[in-house]
Amino acid sequence: MLASANPDKVAEMELLLESVVEVLPRPVGLPDVVEDGETLEANARLKAEAVCRATNCAAIADDTGLFVDALGGEPGVRSARYAGENAGYADNLMKLLADLDGVTPPVRSAHFRTVAMICYPDGNELVATGTVEGRIAETPSGIGGFGYDSVFIPDEGDGTTFAEMADDKHRFSHRGRALRALMSMLNTPPASETG
Ligand code: IMP
Repeated sequence: MLASANPDKVAEMELLLESVVEVLPRPVGLPDVVEDGETLEANARLKAEAVCRATNCAAIADDTGLFVDALGGEPGVRSARYAGENAGYADNLMKLLADLDGVTPPVRSAHFRTVAMICYPDGNELVATGTVEGRIAETPSGIGGFGYDSVFIPDEGDGTTFAEMADDKHRFSHRGRALRALMSMLNTPPASETG
């Protein structure tokens, strides 16, 4: 069961998981989870545990942050609420660019980090992380993706932002890496079976 209520993340998670596991959408009507954990892992657990408890199904969640070096790691775990409690993508993006005003390219380095987690009804959990290094562009480019994608230029790419890459983003995205790592754990037999 997908534990995310964000349709942009759900679309990416479905794309990344479809060839490995069957995922069901988060049931409509479940109350929102207050993401007040101090870490990405704590927030991922809050989401996955809430849906697992409510449905008695294994539930998968991810929590993601953008960590900008020149801002001491901000917005980090507060990436969704950077410009305020009810801020949208555009508000957060504008605040990020304003906070980096005057910061020149060599020091606009940043990384995305995702913690992906599956919680099971028996209390077990699997956790994996994914990171991508890059830099923050001075102006947005591209119309794909969501959130901060239009200003994030991954170091491993061709100089374009995630928003200019469409599905290619997932070759090295934080979410692609975290979910692939998590899926590889599903395929690893328990130590007792490997001798
Ligand atoms: P969440 O708490 O994991 O839902 O994500 C926090 C915020 O990070 C979101 O509201 C987006 O603004 C941003 N974000 C998460 N994932 C991505 C991504 O893949 N690209 C760009 N921004 C993202």
